[in-house]
Amino acid sequence: MDLKSLIREVPDFPKPGISFKDITTLLKDGAALRYVVDQFDGHFRAARPDVIVGAESRGFILGAPLAYQLGVGFVLVRKPGKLPAAKERITYDLEYGQDALEIHVDAIQPGQKVVIVDDLLATGGTISATAELVKRLGGVIVGFAFIIELDALKGRDRLAGYDVLSLVHYD
Ligand code: 5GP
Repeated sequence: MDLKSLIREVPDFPKPGISFKDITTLLKDGAALRYVVDQFDGHFRAARPDVIVGAESRGFILGAPLAYQLGVGFVLVRKPGKLPAAKERITYDLEYGQDALEIHVDAIQPGQKVVIVDDLLATGGTISATAELVKRLGGVIVGFAFIIELDALKGRDRLAGYDVLSLVHYD
């Protein structure tokens, strides 16, 4: 399936010079949404993950149906202040400033196999922070799944040694 034709490129969003890859145009296409989840499923099913982890917010949209299809649980990694119970936090650097992500401390049991899902891999900052939270809880990462990878930003280098699946590539 030609997923790229369903992704809308929005120039100068969220700031001048950025060409934003808008996946809402893909998500509203039922066959395309199913195709994406089926591709993730087909790639990672054999690794028998125990849990799927997705980061707020587009990671939820893809991670939850993948978990459902695999018959495993889904774990939320959220922006600060959203999760109600005891949690682990990581702070990470952005181009300008810092951001943080949180996970419930009881979300993953030590030794559980985890696939981490997000819509897009750019610099890898978000996904590396998510991976660090999973590792702190003792999760064993079996791979990462994205719709889109922005190759020039070399986020894949930060995930060296892991199985990284991306369905669509941009330079
Ligand atoms: P990174 O942390 O790898 O630099 O950026 C990836 C994160 O930013 C992902 O969580 C993704 O949702 C978001 N992101 C950055 N650029 C884009 C974009 O062009 N399109 C979409 N859909 N998300 C983006």
